[in-house]
Amino acid sequence: MLFRKVPKTGDELSVLGFGYMRLPPKKGGGIDEERAIRQLRYAIDNGVNYVDTAPAYHFGKSEKILARALEGGYREKVRIATKLPPWSIHSSGDMNQFLSSQLSTLQTDYIDFYLLHSLTKASWEKMKKLDVLGFLESAKKDGRIKNAGFSFHGDPATFKEIIDAYDWDFCQIQYNYLDEHNQAGTEGLEYAAGKKIAVMIMEPIRGGNLAGNVPDEIKKIWDESPVKRSPAEWALRWVWNHPEVTVVLSGMNDEVHINENLRVAGEALPNSLSLPELAIVARVRDTYQRLMKVNCTGCGYCMPCPAGVDIPGCFSLYNAHCLFPHDRSARFHYMSRHGGLLSNVSYAGLCRQCGKCVKICPQHILIPDRLREVSLEMDGRRRFIVPVLKSGLWCMNKARQIRALFSPGTKSR
Ligand code: SF4
Ligand code: SF4
Repeated sequence: MLFRKVPKTGDELSVLGFGYMRLPPKKGGGIDEERAIRQLRYAIDNGVNYVDTAPAYHFGKSEKILARALEGGYREKVRIATKLPPWSIHSSGDMNQFLSSQLSTLQTDYIDFYLLHSLTKASWEKMKKLDVLGFLESAKKDGRIKNAGFSFHGDPATFKEIIDAYDWDFCQIQYNYLDEHNQAGTEGLEYAAGKKIAVMIMEPIRGGNLAGNVPDEIKKIWDESPVKRSPAEWALRWVWNHPEVTVVLSGMNDEVHINENLRVAGEALPNSLSLPELAIVARVRDTYQRLMKVNCTGCGYCMPCPAGVDIPGCFSLYNAHCLFPHDRSARFHYMSRHGGLLSNVSYAGLCRQCGKCVKICPQHILIPDRLREVSLEMDGRRRFIVPVLKSGLWCMNKARQIRALFSPGTKSR
């Protein structure tokens, strides 16, 4: 296992982090908890010392299973990263209550890496107003959290704004060879690293899409390479090739993938890919981009839209949906991010066809026309589903708060 340092603390983290968000399924439904525990302990025994969870993963079960997995001395061997969900926070008091409840669930006195979950412009504005920075300061001071950070799915300008707003220890961004110019992108990665902020990477294989069901055209390019690697290994090595990256998270739930990732994590040094190897990855990226429906680079110049549409966000998920039709996660993310479940509504159907954005787009995309296409495909019955999901989330939060009220306090590890 290779290790990289957190710039502000010198803490040495394994380059491979265990994403505890896609736990192995059990036959007949649910999570195979014993297998999930075995897998994580195996990874820890082989050098992984960073595990990432969140209350939202498996509707709260991920944190609970993680607590079980870390019994018997494993807690001392890893840094726990978990998250505060802005969509569940409605007052400053909620934040303390939420954190207390997480400490109790995770059976620990402190969280090593604590993130504001999935920030966008809207959720950042909301959390600022609730004095989230004051909350993070006090939680760091009294030792409940060791490092403060945030995960991000917004536009590049908002990313820089958040980075500049606080003395963050780390951040977490979506990054892979298809997302160089999407969300925070390479520019954001370099910006954060330039400020000595550790950068954790999520979606290095785009939720597995760059590894499984690879289109024939892409397969042909990989096959032409004299160096033989699986598409997953190519994707991981490309991310680790960036010296600005600290940890790459992989949501591993298959023993074969865990072993492959552990092997690559022991070899993938920064700047280790040769120019011909980088050229192969660039050809694959260009081919994927040609296969995409909308040629949006995610630059964000067209934003903000007066009607509230998240133009690059909608295009990005529409592209993912069309490119990987077998994978339903793009539709789910579209509904949660743009349908109003996790923050303000920003879906394609809000477009009023004013034309303001068209004059600005450097790619000359006929944005209103393409948004109509996105709306037809993606908006669906969002208006009915979102209120139902929101009510479900509200009930879950209330249950968590009530549990925290009657909890005897956080257990010491
Ligand atoms: S045309 Fe539509 S997407 Fe573009 S700025 Fe106007 S309302 Fe927003
Ligand atoms: S300006 Fe064009 S390329 Fe840039 S984010 Fe908007 S639609 Fe995409």
